[in-house]
Amino acid sequence: MFLKAAVVSKEKTVSIVDKQLRPLKYGEALVQMEYCGVCHTDLHVKNGDFGDATGVVLGHEGIGKVVEVGEGVTSLKIGDRVSIAWLYESCGNCEYCNTGRETLCRDVKNSGYSVDGAMAEQAIVVADYAVKVPDGLDPAAASSVTCAGVTTYKAVKVSQVQPGGWIGVFGIGGLGNLAVQYAKHVFGAKVIAFDINDDKLAFAKEVGADVVVNSLKEDPKERALEVTGGKGLDASIITAVAKEPFNQAVDVVKAGARVVAVGLPVDKMDLDIPRLVLDGIQVIGSLVGTRQDLQEAFQFAAEGKVVPKVTLRKIEEINDIMEEMEQGKFTGRMVIDFTK
Ligand code: NAD
Ligand code: ZN
Ligand code: ZN
Repeated sequence: MFLKAAVVSKEKTVSIVDKQLRPLKYGEALVQMEYCGVCHTDLHVKNGDFGDATGVVLGHEGIGKVVEVGEGVTSLKIGDRVSIAWLYESCGNCEYCNTGRETLCRDVKNSGYSVDGAMAEQAIVVADYAVKVPDGLDPAAASSVTCAGVTTYKAVKVSQVQPGGWIGVFGIGGLGNLAVQYAKHVFGAKVIAFDINDDKLAFAKEVGADVVVNSLKEDPKERALEVTGGKGLDASIITAVAKEPFNQAVDVVKAGARVVAVGLPVDKMDLDIPRLVLDGIQVIGSLVGTRQDLQEAFQFAAEGKVVPKVTLRKIEEINDIMEEMEQGKFTGRMVIDFTK
């Protein structure tokens, strides 16, 4: 059977092609896609920012139903609704896999990057890595949690912000708006949202940010000091795709704070060494989340604490979506609808 899939072309655009899937191997399952969100990482992959990806099927915010299981599959059955995340598979037995850091496994496979992903009518998954979607969570909303949600949920965890503490979120796109929601409604933090686009900031306010700052119009550090009575923020997270907010995220925090880097501009950040050392600032990279993190992130969404904003689109619109994303033209997430 041939199926429609969004594939990276040599010209750094996305082509919709007919693809034929191979038979299932031991431990694999076949998923009939319902929805797949478009992440800014898909844009980086398409552009070759992390190396040439010509020919790969994009997508790592996939949600669909299991229609076939291969030999040896015990964790899934036909009819289960599952996710296809960036973590496609890891080796399962290395220093990272054995210590709750499976996303850092050196032999990891990533959906829509090193192996074919979820922007297709059907996809093959490794059953044990396809996390089940809880009942009561809308599948289109669940697609957003599969990358944007789990990544920001994990980043807030890593930030170690405490209930009532102040966290700064830089970049209020598909990821950032969920960072605001997890920080505010799950971790009980106070949130200051930074962006350079007023529509994104209005949306941040809508989803629970206490304070919003347009970094082009106001100085992030001054505003952070103002809202914290001169102390500085307890933590910050950067999901923006630019260098400047990485530097600003260091400027806005208090001594001893964590700065969690999530966005992936192909660039270098500046780190003032005396500031880093004398103020004991910790700058930490955070990559998606483990299967356990995803289960937790799903559960909070199923409970209604976090509500992704999704707009359904057709797979044929993928190049338009990417252009709109680059230009910051929408809030929330664009999601490819495979149900029609
Ligand atoms: P997005 O395009 O939806 O959002 C980016 C946001 O950054 C936009 O709101 C934009 O206005 C804002 N922005 C741009 N320049 C800014 C600036 N100078 N200051 C403040 N804000 C600014 O993208 P997304 O899907 O949310 O992804 C964001 C980034 O995170 C991408 O680089 C993506 O590859 C990366 N990402 C990382 C992980 C991870 O595991 N670390 C996971 C998913 C995505
Ligand atoms: Zn992603
Ligand atoms: Zn491993």
